[in-house]
Amino acid sequence: MRILLLTPPMVQVNAPYPATAHLAGFLKNTRHTVCQADAALMLALRLFSRSGILKLTKAMSRRSRSRSVRHFIRHAPEYAATMDPAIRFLQGHDPTLALRIASRRFLPEGPRFTPLARLPVNTASPFGDGSTHDLAVYLASLYLDDVTDAIRDGVDSRFELARYAEKLAASAPSFDGIASALRRKPTLVDSMIDAITEELIRAHKPELVGMTLPFPGNVYGAFRMARYIKKQSPGTTVVMGGGYINTELRNLSEPRVFDYADFITLDDGERPLLRIIEHVENQKTPLLNFHQRHQAPQFERTFFRNANRVCYVPSAPPASTPRLPLSNFTPLFSGLPLDRYFSMVELPNPMHKIWSCGRWNKLALAHGCYWQKCAFCDTALDTINRYSPTSPNVLIERIETIIQQTGQTGFHFVDEAMPPALIRSLAELLIDRGLKITWWGNIRFDKAFTPDLAALAAQAGCVAVTGGLEAATDRLLSLLDKGFQLEQVTRVTHTLSEAGIMVHAYLMYGCPSQTCQETVDSLEYVRQLFDAGYIQSAYWHRFALTIHSPIYRNPRRFGIRIPRLPKPVFARNEVPFVDSIDCDHDALGRGLRKALYSYLHGAGLDLDLQAWFDIPVPPPTLHTDFVTRQA
Ligand code: SF4
Repeated sequence: MRILLLTPPMVQVNAPYPATAHLAGFLKNTRHTVCQADAALMLALRLFSRSGILKLTKAMSRRSRSRSVRHFIRHAPEYAATMDPAIRFLQGHDPTLALRIASRRFLPEGPRFTPLARLPVNTASPFGDGSTHDLAVYLASLYLDDVTDAIRDGVDSRFELARYAEKLAASAPSFDGIASALRRKPTLVDSMIDAITEELIRAHKPELVGMTLPFPGNVYGAFRMARYIKKQSPGTTVVMGGGYINTELRNLSEPRVFDYADFITLDDGERPLLRIIEHVENQKTPLLNFHQRHQAPQFERTFFRNANRVCYVPSAPPASTPRLPLSNFTPLFSGLPLDRYFSMVELPNPMHKIWSCGRWNKLALAHGCYWQKCAFCDTALDTINRYSPTSPNVLIERIETIIQQTGQTGFHFVDEAMPPALIRSLAELLIDRGLKITWWGNIRFDKAFTPDLAALAAQAGCVAVTGGLEAATDRLLSLLDKGFQLEQVTRVTHTLSEAGIMVHAYLMYGCPSQTCQETVDSLEYVRQLFDAGYIQSAYWHRFALTIHSPIYRNPRRFGIRIPRLPKPVFARNEVPFVDSIDCDHDALGRGLRKALYSYLHGAGLDLDLQAWFDIPVPPPTLHTDFVTRQA
């Protein structure tokens, strides 16, 4: 069977999203022909090209009052002339162009450049170290952001660089929004997605297309592609799976979804996909007798439609068959255009740029999380609660194979939380074998990160970690079952930064029962961590209550009430709640973001905390040397 694995638009553009490579690695030893394609990258490269700019110029609304649109229309010839060179530069193919871009006389500069307006031309770099290349990547990224803003304001309001029509899918209880958007007159972006689908179908002639839907921002793109496939090639079987489906579609009961997809699978995709492939082959084999052809399909964790009803098969017998985690197979990247991904830098902050800059190979050390207790986390899901570490020797083999495939030695370990014991064994093996890689990944601020482990990890190539500091007060860390207190976070971040490992902290505000005072205190703690150099980057998320979390299962323990909601037929994940504490989290969020933006640029660390907020807030109760005393 010819199988095409697809990443639909839009996801990141600096490296392949790993799902199709994992499935291709799993399927490579079967007798099927497996190809993979990244339609998100294809769309981005089509829009960000000379011919894309010419099409955008024609499609751009002349009535728009947006500054981005007016600037784009005025400078369209310059955008058309510079887009191909700029993308080649961001792909790493033309490094000498950095000098011209950094001169700030090469690229048109729209509203995204406003914060730089005060810097003198030709001399200033927000990087402060005279790095021409970094500055040029930053400027070229602002230039693409300007074009993205113009597309959003003047061509298609749903378009963003790493997501498309996200609002149609995120926690959408009904399929109506996606269904009606698919019926509407296509925008230029829609037409490009249709054209890409046609090309892929013509080139690969797949009998089965498997699509990964990791985020709400690529769900509409996936259905758009599936719609086209079903119209042009109705005999092709379409299968959808991935993180969004695992999280949001577990109670799917909308039959219209199956106008586009034949099967929807939950959790790790290997076994469900294999069962579907067997089923499709059986259906197409003329030599099978009637009984064989009509025996009950042996699906596993799969939704399908039967007589206009949605059916779900939880697992195929024998139920005791061991599950096959993604980590059991070496990803296969062949067929993906690895030299066409492009880097972007949204902020001149060394830790922040690690996400969008560079072609990191993505690999997991383990399936699931070794902690599994945080009260806000989706601990009811298989991706979190089935912990299964990979052996260090197998990891080393995989790392070597991936380097051979991609030519890249940078690794992003995409674990929920890299287990410290496994980090130790892997680091020892990397050092023993003299295998030089550069790596980063997510951790818990676990006390196991001693100076000895941090030094070992750094020696083995670890350059950065990210970790959940969440609400950053001792009371809330306990309530949320994080398993550590601020004192431990201070010690671990200090230890890591002493070892030369950069730290990014995920922060949360608006948690159940969180007071204004606690929010201000958490900002003060974060300010002190930045000031001490223990963290280099952070991001503040608004707390979201999800149906797979311990808080949802026991809201009273957290002082909240969850209103009754009608049963959804499509997606369900985030739900509203009523807190017993009255606090203007929206206003606090604005202040937190302003302060953090400034700290990321290394500024404002000595400013009075209350000045960041546009509502009255109390002064922090945390002592000003809280962090330095604890380290
Ligand atoms: S938040 Fe992170 S550390 Fe906590 S249970 Fe979830 S995955 Fe594990």
